[in-house]
Formats: sequence, C-alpha cells, structure tokens
Amino acid sequence: MEIDAAREVRTTCPYCGVGCGVLAKVAADGQVSVRGDPDHPANFGRLCSKGSALAETIDLDGRLLHPEIDGRRAGWDEALDRVASTFSQTIAEHGPDSVAFYVSGQLLTEDYYVANKLMKGFVGSANIDTNSRLCMASSVAGHRRAFGSDTVPGTYEDLELADLIVLVGSNLAWCHPVLYQRIAAAREKRPEMKIVLVDPRRTMTADIADMHLAIAPDGDVALFTGLLAYLGQHNALDRAYVTERTTGFGQALLAASTLDLAGVAEATGLSEDELGRFYSLFARTEKTVTVYSQGVNQSSSGTDKVNAIINCHLATGRIGKPGAGPFSVTGQPNAMGGREVGGMANMLAAHMEIENPAHRARVRRFWNAPALAEQPGLKAVDMFKAVADGRIKALWIMATNPVDSMPDADAVEAAIKACPFVVVSDVLASTDTVRHAHVRLPATAWGEKDGTVTNSERRISRQRAFLPAPGEARPDWWIVAEVARLMGFGQGFAHVTPAQIFAEHAALSAYENDGARDFDIGAYAGIEAEEYDALAPFQWPEKDGQAARSPSTRFFANGNFYTPDGKARFIPIRPVAETRTDEKFSLILNTGRVRDHWHTMTRTGKSPRLSQHIAEPFAEIHPADAQHFGIGDADIVRISSPRGEVLVRALVTSRQRQGSLFAPMHWTDQFAAKGRLDALTASLTDPVSGQPALKHVAVRIERF
Ligand code: SF4
Repeated sequence: MEIDAAREVRTTCPYCGVGCGVLAKVAADGQVSVRGDPDHPANFGRLCSKGSALAETIDLDGRLLHPEIDGRRAGWDEALDRVASTFSQTIAEHGPDSVAFYVSGQLLTEDYYVANKLMKGFVGSANIDTNSRLCMASSVAGHRRAFGSDTVPGTYEDLELADLIVLVGSNLAWCHPVLYQRIAAAREKRPEMKIVLVDPRRTMTADIADMHLAIAPDGDVALFTGLLAYLGQHNALDRAYVTERTTGFGQALLAASTLDLAGVAEATGLSEDELGRFYSLFARTEKTVTVYSQGVNQSSSGTDKVNAIINCHLATGRIGKPGAGPFSVTGQPNAMGGREVGGMANMLAAHMEIENPAHRARVRRFWNAPALAEQPGLKAVDMFKAVADGRIKALWIMATNPVDSMPDADAVEAAIKACPFVVVSDVLASTDTVRHAHVRLPATAWGEKDGTVTNSERRISRQRAFLPAPGEARPDWWIVAEVARLMGFGQGFAHVTPAQIFAEHAALSAYENDGARDFDIGAYAGIEAEEYDALAPFQWPEKDGQAARSPSTRFFANGNFYTPDGKARFIPIRPVAETRTDEKFSLILNTGRVRDHWHTMTRTGKSPRLSQHIAEPFAEIHPADAQHFGIGDADIVRISSPRGEVLVRALVTSRQRQGSLFAPMHWTDQFAAKGRLDALTASLTDPVSGQPALKHVAVRIERF
C-alpha cells in the first residue's frame, strides 16, 4: 500500500473492549503518531496511556516476517500446503473432532468469521474456541439464560445517565480507563450521581466510589441474591414488569431467600450495616446500571453471578431504559465480534445456537456447508486437555499465547509440545507459544490490516491499515481462506477482500431472520468496497452506518426478549459456600491487569514509557498476612500452588484484603525470571460457561 503522509487514518484501538477511535498518521520520515478520534462515539477524542503509546509498539523488532516449517524459512505455498494436507489427513484418519482451532479476541471479525466457517461448516467440528473464553464466557451464558440471546442491553451513554453505578469486580480505572474517564466527567457534572465498587481489593477505581464493599472472594452470588430478597421484603419490586415481562420470579425469590441478612454478611465478609446501606441505595435508585467484568466472569460461579445481577434488574424493571440496566464490559477489543460470528465452541454464527436443529439447518443452507457441526465443541480448558491426552492431533493457534495465558500453563505448554502438529499464526517470531509450532505463519498486525471490531456497547468500528504489510505477513482471514481452498473447500472461501467477508457476515445475520434473533446487520449485506472503506462506527441494531452520533440504541426497551414466550427468565440461584484453601495453601490469589500493560506484554512490553508505571511483577499482600509470613515490603517472595511457582516482589498494602493476594498476569519469563503467573492458576471452570476461575486460586507465600 502507498502511504499518504498528509492523511490521518481513522482506526480503532486494539486493546480493551471500550473500542476507542484512533487517528493514526505516518509522517514523511515514517514516524507514526496517534491521537484520539474526536468523532468516535466511544471515546470522543480520549485515549488512555496504552492507546496513546500505540505508536511506540509497532516497530518490526521481533516480528515473524516469513512462513517457517520446523524452524526453517519456507514459502507461503509450501507452508499452506503443509497445514492443509496435515489437517486433511488427520481428519481423514481420526475424524473432524481430532483437530482444533484456538483463536483470539484480538482477531478482527472478518478473520474470526472465516475461521469459524471453516471449522464449523466445512471441517464438520465445533472445536474452535477462543481466549475470550477466559474473558466473558460467563456473561454470554448468563445473557442466554435470562434473555434467550447473548444481548448486551446497555450503552456507554447509560453510564452517564445513571444516578447509581454499581461496579462489580471491575477495576475500570485501570482496565477500561476511557469508560472510567467518561463516568468521572459525568459525575463532575452531576455530583449527586452515586458510585458503589464491589471488589475484594481497594483498587484505583475506589477513588471515585462513594462506597467500597470489600467483598470476600466469590461472595458476589450471596450479595446479589441477598439484594433480590431485600427488594422483595422492602416493597421495591416493579410488580407489573415482573408479571408481564418475566417468568420464574417466585422460584428465584425462594432460592434467594436461603440466607438471611446475617448469612449474607457471613458469606460476603461485609457487615450488615454495609449491606443495608447498599441494598437501600439500590432499592431507591431507579436509574441504576450494574457494570461487571472479570471479577464476575472469571469464577467457578461466574454464570450464577451474572444471573444474580440480572435478576435484580428484572425484579425492578431496570433494563432497556436510559441510565438503567445490567452491563457486561468485555476485556478484549473484539470479544463481541467473536460472539457475533459464533467464534466459540458452543455457539453458531450470527448469534444462532448450535444445539438448535433449525439454526443448524439455516446456517448449512446459507453456507452451502458440506459438513455442518452437529454439536458443541471443546471449550478452551477442555480443548487443551484433549490436546494433552491425544484426542486433538492437529491444533492451529491464531493471535494468542496460551502457553502463558491459559490456566495451569505448564500443563498447557506440555500438551502443545507433545501435540503431533501445531500451527501458530502470529505477528511475533518467538512468543512462548510460537516457539513450539511446527508451522509458523506471519500475520499482519494492527496498523497493517483491515477489518472491523465490536466494542462492549455493540458498536462496530473499522480497523484500517495505514502501514504496508512487512515481509511476507498476510491477514489472518487470507491465511485461513487459503488453507480452506487447499483443503478442497474453495467454493465457500472465494472472498478476496475483508469487505466481501463482512458483507457475507451481514447477509447471514439477516438470513431468514424474522426478528427472532437479536443480531441483524443485514443493512450491510450488499456493502461495496468503497462504502466499507468509509464505514463509520455504528451500534447494532442501528441500521445507518453513517449515523455515528445518533442516540445510543438500547435493547429490551419494549420489554420483549428473545425467549420462546418473549419474556425474560429469572434464574433461581442459591449461594453456595466454597472453600478452596487448606493448611498448606492458605491464601487466595486474585489475578488481574495493571494500567499500562496488556495480556502477555507482547505489544506493551515494547514501550519503555508504559513499563515506567510498573516495571516488574509484584503481589499485593495485607500487612497482617505479611507479618504472619515474615515478609517485608519489597521482599522477593515465592508464591506457589500445587501446579507451579512464581517469584515476584511483595507490595505490603492495606488495599489488599486479609487472606488474599493480588498479582498481575502480564509478566512472562521473557520479561521476568519465573514470572508466569498462570503456571499457578487451576483449570477449574464454571460449569455452565466453561470459563476458568482465575481470581480464586489457593496458594502459599514465602520469602525467597
Ligand atoms: Fe484503547 Fe481501551 Fe485505552 Fe480506549 S480505554 S485507548 S480502547 S486501551
């Protein structure tokens, strides 16, 4: 591509699910600069530290620039042929479920669509799952249980309109900084707005909160079932809404009443006074938004937590209204786009359900698919277990680094090492995962590729190339489509541009869609290259892509849901006490992010400026625990679990809850010796969503 040094290119930040618009410019000397896009409805010109430093992270140092086979440079023809022939042969010998794709919320929607189509429609297996399983699978499952669809009802605008924002397990100040800034700005204009933070730690987000509930790990189900019982007891229900627009309230209330206030206090570690003040505030504030992210999702009871929250909103009729609703915010830039194309092992394209025969028949017809998958595939944790025990014999990993980021990471690494055939498509030549690949395929990076992403409020935005593809790097969608053609599926993969893939994705969303499915962007089914190039951010179900500043679009304003009877479902939930610690592993490790790093630091690790904020891995420990274990501030400590150990610096702080530790997930052995935190975490998952419980790991600590 030719670079126009005078032109700013509108694109989208590749980090978190806020999905901020970015204006990128390449100067005549090749220097890249970025600034926030003032016209993008997610950020209106704001960028956080990570977004502002994007230009510092796009050099070619460490890039994978040519295909490689068994460590030697190869041409694309040979590499693609090896991938296609090995997958075809494995499928022929061992069946379609002997192969798998592990993909990523970093992929663009077009990449995701093609990979999902190949695996589910042409290979005939649903063994495609994504690192988004680690991020928001419990929200997806909770939405589907309550609404009959994976619909995020709310919008960012609701956060500015609310009179009460309840942030649950969400350190917005560091993990979704621009949303935090929007809330802070709204609160400055309306100081009467109240903010409650529910988090075991006193994070930076607590600075803006009127009330911080330092809840016990995984106490959220008890907190919100207790709230439902309170709403019932204090005449704070919207009885007409409950009767007309929902089902199952009676059973949900009965289940929620298992604990009295004293029981809830014990289960949550909060005082009855704290509970009473929070419950009363919620009960009397009509315009309430409850925001939740990884503290809710990354739990063995994540789906129940989501439904316990949604139950409270249904009981008060606070959903689908300006400034009111439950609101899941996603971690990754395109977790939502992945959901839209069905890029998870238990979903079908365009928000259709793989368990539904009519949906399967519809997708089969639309794709003219020779072998549509008949049942859900393996979710991420189970997928790597199947790699370990030999059921999966050929694995293709795209744009993610599971050797560092999956729970029980050493076991995952051993599984990948032993797998007969591993393909990795990545931008980097030597991540801990790429190292184990038999075939390495160079992918284009942010700034070099074209496509779309969907942010947490259902807003679809373009990522646009402003740099030429380096070396022989190619877009992920192109790589997958080429392999599909070589496997003999050319008829389904004739696309030659991302615009054509997007048009097909849009057409499928509208195919035989009589309004019974929430996701419908059929207005873009005929989109031409020029229109796609100019596509302005739009929030589905809004139809007009040019209406970037139109009022935000909420779901469920009419009280109709996507269940067979059109009513939302209450889910009966009982709080269950769970003890994971014992004498040997007596502390609970909570894992998470820091402000200026992202995932396994493959991008942010390149910016010295970003590393200035926090330069090394650490663990927060409460002063009483530090004293008990003989640990001083800044000591190097060993944290271990039955699966592995890390060495980190101790940060003694009363921000941490007694009995718990917090450590960030970013550092790998590339950046700090023995820094891989996921060597400690367990493969325990939520039984409904399959999401791992990354925030509740029994560990011990000792001075090194
Ligand atoms: Fe990027 Fe998220 Fe920061 Fe926005 S808030 S600039 S999307 S990292």
